[in-house]
Amino acid sequence: MRVPRLAKIILYDEGADKALHIEEIAEYLNLKMKKVEIEIKGSPFSSSQDKALEYARKIAGLKIQNATRILPPEPEPLYGEIEYEKRRILGKTKAFGVLYEGTGLQRIFWELIPREERNLSFAHILFSNRLFATWEESDRRYHARVSVYGIPTMLSTTGVVEAPAKPREYYLLKQQYEMLRKDLLELNDMFRGRFIGYEDERMTEVMKGYAMQAVFYSLTGNPFCEDRGCRLYNAHWQEEVIHGQIDSQYEFCPEHTAMIEALNDF
Ligand SMILES: [Zn+2]
Repeated sequence: MRVPRLAKIILYDEGADKALHIEEIAEYLNLKMKKVEIEIKGSPFSSSQDKALEYARKIAGLKIQNATRILPPEPEPLYGEIEYEKRRILGKTKAFGVLYEGTGLQRIFWELIPREERNLSFAHILFSNRLFATWEESDRRYHARVSVYGIPTMLSTTGVVEAPAKPREYYLLKQQYEMLRKDLLELNDMFRGRFIGYEDERMTEVMKGYAMQAVFYSLTGNPFCEDRGCRLYNAHWQEEVIHGQIDSQYEFCPEHTAMIEALNDF
């Protein structure tokens, strides 16, 4: 099997969830991709702080207000929205609660990558707590995502919590809890093992698998695998995320295990 060359993996932290330990992900990638250099870079905005206002305006224009309406080509964000984004770029707030258009956001991060690194011999992986969504033509609405692959691949810790669906029983019980005004914390405790929450100690373990999907995207153009027990499985349910990334008896299916070995024997 011919395996393309990957020279370097660069990890960025754009305000990811507290439970995410990027150094641990770097160590993991180092173990799997022995021949590839790994670098942790921090915020992608760190060398463009003087352009914070310009980027803030662009990012504020990507805010999705209505998930069923496609964003206008020339949005006009409010002053307060731009100021909020500027504070965020400058690292003065980590607040969240905004849904962004994912491909536009990726385009902005692409601009921040040096020209000579904008190719697939680099895997740029950006961790953020921003929740982003992409438009789905089949049901004509935006869907929140854990990941958008490309240069860079964006991985959202908020997306891990919000994008894959929770067990059906959870939604049924949640309605009852809300009707009876019962404490939702009790419900979350009941389902703890069955979905990933905020500041969840399993977040780093889950993201190791998504980071490997980003690596495979750079290597082959395809981040995914059909095998539910493989870390490259494209999970749509929380229980699939937990199975593929934590509970499965193996990390990668035989095919992907062989590819990783071939890369290390290069
Ligand atoms: Zn696989």
